[in-house]
Formats: sequence, C-alpha cells, structure tokens
Amino acid sequence: MSNAFLIKYGEIGIKGKNRHLFEDALVHQIKYALKPIGGAFQVTKEQGRIYIEALGECDQEEVVGRLQCVFGIVGICPVEIREDQGFEKLAQDVIAYLQENYGSKALTFKVHTRRARKNYPMPSMEVNAALGERILEAFPDMKVDVHHPDLMLHIEIRKMINIYSQTIPGPGGMPVGTNGKGMLLLSGGIDSPVAGYMIAKRGVKIDAVYFHAPPYTSERAKQKVIDLAKVVAKYAGPIYLKVVDFTAIQMYIYEKCPHDELTIIMRRYMMRIAERFAEETGSLGLITGESIGQVASQTMHSLAATDEVCRFPVYRPLIGFDKIEIINISEKIGTYETSILPYEDCCTIFVAKHPVTKPGLKAIRRSEQKLQEQIDGMVKAAIETAETVVVEAE
Ligand code: ATP
Ligand code: MG
Repeated sequence: MSNAFLIKYGEIGIKGKNRHLFEDALVHQIKYALKPIGGAFQVTKEQGRIYIEALGECDQEEVVGRLQCVFGIVGICPVEIREDQGFEKLAQDVIAYLQENYGSKALTFKVHTRRARKNYPMPSMEVNAALGERILEAFPDMKVDVHHPDLMLHIEIRKMINIYSQTIPGPGGMPVGTNGKGMLLLSGGIDSPVAGYMIAKRGVKIDAVYFHAPPYTSERAKQKVIDLAKVVAKYAGPIYLKVVDFTAIQMYIYEKCPHDELTIIMRRYMMRIAERFAEETGSLGLITGESIGQVASQTMHSLAATDEVCRFPVYRPLIGFDKIEIINISEKIGTYETSILPYEDCCTIFVAKHPVTKPGLKAIRRSEQKLQEQIDGMVKAAIETAETVVVEAE
C-alpha cells in the first residue's frame, strides 16, 4: 500500500502571487486536517505539486477521508515515489505496482507519461510504448485501450518518479484562509452549520456567534452548538465561538414589544451584536443560514427588516435552497445527526404563534423605540460578558 499522496488542486485563476498564497494555505489546512489522526506526515510543496508522505504506518482510508474535508483539493492520488534508476528498474517497479494494486485482473489500460524533467533520456511517447509492452508481457490478460481504459497508469518523471493510477475526488473550493474572514451566526439548527460550510468552501475563515438564553435554554443546547462547530471546524479550521447570554435582551423585548414582532426584533439585535464582534475581530461580513420563505422571519420583507440594521454585508449561501437540499448537504458533511437533537433554541421559546410575515420597517422601528431606556446597556453587557470558546476539529 502506498503511504504517499499526490494532491491535485484547481489551478484556474491562481497565477502569480496568488498561487503562492493558495498553496501555502492549502498546506496549512492539510496539516490541520491530518493532526487528529496522529502519526507524522510530511507535507511538501514542489514544482506546482503538493505531496503528503506518512512517515510511519497509516490507514489510507482515514487519510483520504480527512483530505476530503480540505477545500482546494480537487483530487487525491495515492502515489508510489521511486528514485530514477533507469528504465529497466522503472519497468520492474511498474509491474510490481500493478501486481500489488490490481493482481492479474483482465483490465484494459493506458500508460500516460509526463516528463517534468526534460533531461530524461526517453521521450514520453517512447516510455508509454515501452512500458505498455512490458505490462502486456507480464499480464497476458490485460489489453491496451487508449480511449476508455479501465486503468489509466500515470508516470510522472520529476526529480523522483511518480507512479499512480487512482484519483479520488476532493471537495473542490478554495483553501480556507485565502479569502478573508466572516462571522457566522450559528444556532443549533440544520441550516447555519451548512451555511458556514458553504462560505468556508470559498476560502473564507469562519468565526461564530451563538445566542443562548439560560435558564430557558440548557447547557446541552449550548454543547450541541459547540459539537456542530467541531464538525464545521473539520472543514473550516479552528473556530472562535462567542457564546452570548441573550436572556435579558429577549425578556426585555418580550415585555415591551408586540409579540408578533418578537422574532424580527430579536434577529435585529442578534445582527447588531454579531456585527460588533465582527468589527472587533476583523470579519468582513455576517453569515446566516436563512433561505427565502422558509419561515416567517425569512420572507423578503423580514430579511429586508433584518438587513436594515446591518452595515456589514450579510451572506446567506442557502438563500435559494429548499429544506431538502440543505438536509442533503448536512448529511453529507456530517452535521445532520447533531442538528436534529431536540434541544430548545432561544428563538423557539419566545416565538409568537402568528409572527408577522410582512413587517413594516416603520412599525418595527417604532417598537424598538420602546426599548430605548435599557437596551444599549443590555447590549453592552451581553457583549462584555460573552464567553469565547475555541473549537477545534476532532
Ligand atoms: P437554523 O437551522 O440554522 O437554526 P432556522 O431555519 O431554524 O435556521 P431561524 O431560527 O429563523 O432559522 O434562524 C435563521 C438564522 O439566524 C440561522 O440560520 C442562524 O444563522 C441565525 N440564528 C438563529 N438563532 C440563532 C442563535 N440562537 N444563535 C446564533 N444564530 C442564530
Ligand atoms: Mg434556528
């Protein structure tokens, strides 16, 4: 079994200086993703390629599983790396490689050679032909098919010779850290972890904020959000999660404002507070799991009322998704099981039976006027007493 991997990444649009940043961020994220496995890995950047080598035994499946969480990776190729000791030795290595990986199955194949090192004494086409011949001799049941081979055998002649035949798909996207930082409003639901995943996939580093309402919401509800952040961190890297005690603010809104406007006013205060954290920590936008029409607070009118208080751009990557599509992603990324645990959310406790679906901005502003006396102090206190949890991937 191979204990080295050749990493392929998207190359479009990453020329010049950006390429360097892209590769460095990718190496950084790969190291982070492999850390929980234990064991030593060497990750090296070389001539537009990234190599990962396990310095001891490794479980190939586990390594591949971890690498499939690293944005920017397009393909993962288990690779054999051999010193160049002449063509005869290469032919023997290739036959041993095929024997080990495919036995003597009746497969069709094609040899595809690339010479990154032009001083190799044989041109690529000649290597293809000569290796093809040796393979046919060694495995009488194999056949050449240059159009649709079962097995595409890649030989790359670099400083060392790379032999590989399998490309396992990666998640695509861009390495986290190449595209600034965003503040995710993370609840215990299905949507917001998926939203964080989607934005991280575009290279954005994620911070998060969770509003809880003790004693109305439990420690377990908070732990659930931390557990969700742990899963998102597998893709997005460590997450600084602010846990805000929102009880006083919620109670005050509940006491002073019309109940059908509660959710929308609460949401406006969540955004205001999230924005303050974003400002403090250098995030460039807010991220939510909202999608148009999913609930009363997510109609076009409600979203407009929410956005009215935001100076930062609000990114809503799920905006056009149906619930079932969001669930599919959450199952794929591993957050679903945790999201459906039945712990109460602060929004569900104070929610009105018939919330407004078309809040008028004037009415909402008028209701917020009633909070004038104490709300600024409460917001200040909520920000100052917020707890920061550093959430690492498991
Ligand atoms: P989710 O499944 O993400 O909880 P939802 O469909 O339940 O979303 P809402 O509860 O209306 O929808 O919340 C909309 C968005 O507001 C969430 O996706 C999240 O980004 C943010 N949000 C809601 N409640 C909280 C909370 N307690 N803490 C932090 N963010 C929250
Ligand atoms: Mg929710």
